Amino acid sequence: MDKSATRVMVIFTLLGAGAIGGFGIHRLLSAEYGMASFDFVIALSFLSLGYYTHKTGKDGLARFLSAAIATVGPLVFLKAFDSSGVYWVYSSTIIIYYLVPYRWAIGFNSAMLLSLSFVLWGTIENTSELYSFLVTVGLINGFSLMFALNEERSRKKLKELSIRDDLTNVGNRRAFSERMLEIINKNKRYGLNACLVCIDIDKFKDINDTLGHGAGDTAIKKLSSFITHMLRESDEVFRIGGDEFVIIAEGADQSAATQLTEKIRYAVEKEEFIPGRPLTISLGVSILKDSDTPESWLSRADAELYKAKSAGRNQVHFDGKVIPASN
Ligand code: GH3
Ligand code: MG
Repeated sequence: MDKSATRVMVIFTLLGAGAIGGFGIHRLLSAEYGMASFDFVIALSFLSLGYYTHKTGKDGLARFLSAAIATVGPLVFLKAFDSSGVYWVYSSTIIIYYLVPYRWAIGFNSAMLLSLSFVLWGTIENTSELYSFLVTVGLINGFSLMFALNEERSRKKLKELSIRDDLTNVGNRRAFSERMLEIINKNKRYGLNACLVCIDIDKFKDINDTLGHGAGDTAIKKLSSFITHMLRESDEVFRIGGDEFVIIAEGADQSAATQLTEKIRYAVEKEEFIPGRPLTISLGVSILKDSDTPESWLSRADAELYKAKSAGRNQVHFDGKVIPASN
């Protein structure tokens, strides 16, 4: 739940209620009872949406219904009362792009423009005035759409940056946490096999110390891409620490997990990541249990990795046992 998003939405509904309620009071004092009632209905709708958002912490319904009010409000006002309703069309257009995803905003605004053309056709005598109105509203639509598209692109880019590891371009710790939760929830709903593999490079400090940090970085990059290429589409690798990686293999049972991990260990041992110098990894495996939390699932794999390190490195541990090496 995004608290700041719901807070902004509550503020929006209060602003909407305040602005339109103010008109209502003014019209009530001017004895324009019809228009005043209309204003109060809209102001009360905004207040209810704000209250609902505040209570539930969910802003989706308020966004959608506020956009619907912004679409229909000016039209009803224009049709039922007077032509000052057209002034609201400009702000409504922009507000709708702010409230809902741009595809929905295009729909709401197109519906509003189309209905407006019909309503105004009979009321505005001067066709060039009608034309100017439609063109200016159309332009505001176009620019709002451009801003909305830009915003969407930046949001996607930021999200991508926040879950990628800079050095290797695989998922980072945040992406790993999200994926673990996703798998655990999927298991609760449908049931599935999944295994988690903790991988740590053996004696990596020695590589840094003797060949330099740059060579160490290159080895990390090569290893990450090497492991990625050994995996299936449904498996994913993440870098969660300096020389520490994890794999989440969805659909892998005990036998698939042991085969996969020993295959990786063996292939890494045989590959020449750094010319003339061996590089090995230790691996710890845990299979997802129905009762697992992300912490418990990870800590079992981590404990197995620790055993692999203590038992001499360059080995895979699973369920308290070492997996026999294939060479
Ligand atoms: P062990 O077999 O017990 O894992 O020994 P190790 O030397 O690999 O020890 P450990 O895993 O605790 O240390 C990891 C080292 O990785 C520590 C740090 O110097 C190095 N490291 C961490 N991040 C980076 C990085 O981004 N680039 C490089 N080149 N080295 C890193
Ligand atoms: Mg290490």
